Amino acid sequence: MSIRVVFLGSPGAGKGTQAQLLAAQYGVPQLATGDILRRNVREGTPLGLEAKRFMDAGDLVPDDVIIAMVERELTDAQGFIVDGFPRTIAQAEAFDALLARLGTPLTAVLLFEVPRDQLIERLTGRWTCPKDQSSYHVAFNPPRTPGRCDICGTELIQRSDDTLETVSRRMAVYDEQTAPLIEYYRSRGNLIPVHADRPVSDVTAEILTALSGRAGSKA
Ligand code: ADP
Ligand code: AMP
Repeated sequence: MSIRVVFLGSPGAGKGTQAQLLAAQYGVPQLATGDILRRNVREGTPLGLEAKRFMDAGDLVPDDVIIAMVERELTDAQGFIVDGFPRTIAQAEAFDALLARLGTPLTAVLLFEVPRDQLIERLTGRWTCPKDQSSYHVAFNPPRTPGRCDICGTELIQRSDDTLETVSRRMAVYDEQTAPLIEYYRSRGNLIPVHADRPVSDVTAEILTALSGRAGSKA
């Protein structure tokens, strides 16, 4: 049995870091809406041109745009880790409807819990690989060679929305529009909290244990 999992949590909670590691371990695709949007911005597609102003401001891209994008990108609904989606109740309802149509219900929703002061430190010190999207941190999770991606050697960049001002806006947007999903998934019996304020390998271990209780895990 494969896993169908949503990673929920504030920007900077470590969702992308864990999604990359665990997608490889479980052999399922990682679907990160932020990564897909940034790729479209880089390539100058109509979607990228539409999304850019919202992303630059730290606001959410409109629901209809995101829902249509996820429906296109979710090519294998048998197994996946979705990271950064859903971010509103409307997105969660549309995702539930899509999965119900496909007959592939979620295995679990993992809620990454990290105190706010740590989130700000994580985001303002984040370095990202523009090629494979891996995430590093100048102090907490440094690359083996300074400034270079461990996986592909590409020069790391700082995301333009990881400035203190935009990070503050993204936190407010999370509180207003995404945090209500905690109750949404809790009331459906899907939510598993994760102590994501610990070292990367400890968080991975906690997730593997939590998921092994829910799915016939391959890990
Ligand atoms: P998200 O995808 O939730 O926005 P990331 O996975 O990109 O978050 O992580 C945000 C920042 O925090 C990155 O700089 C990353 O290297 C760092 N990070 C991720 N997990 C941890 C952890 N468990 N402890 C400390 N720093 C972490
Ligand atoms: P992330 O990489 O998840 O931090 O997302 C970066 C930015 O992309 C966000 O600040 C939003 O502007 C946009 N974005 C990513 N995922 C979504 C989503 N599910 N709904 C709306 N906007 C999104």
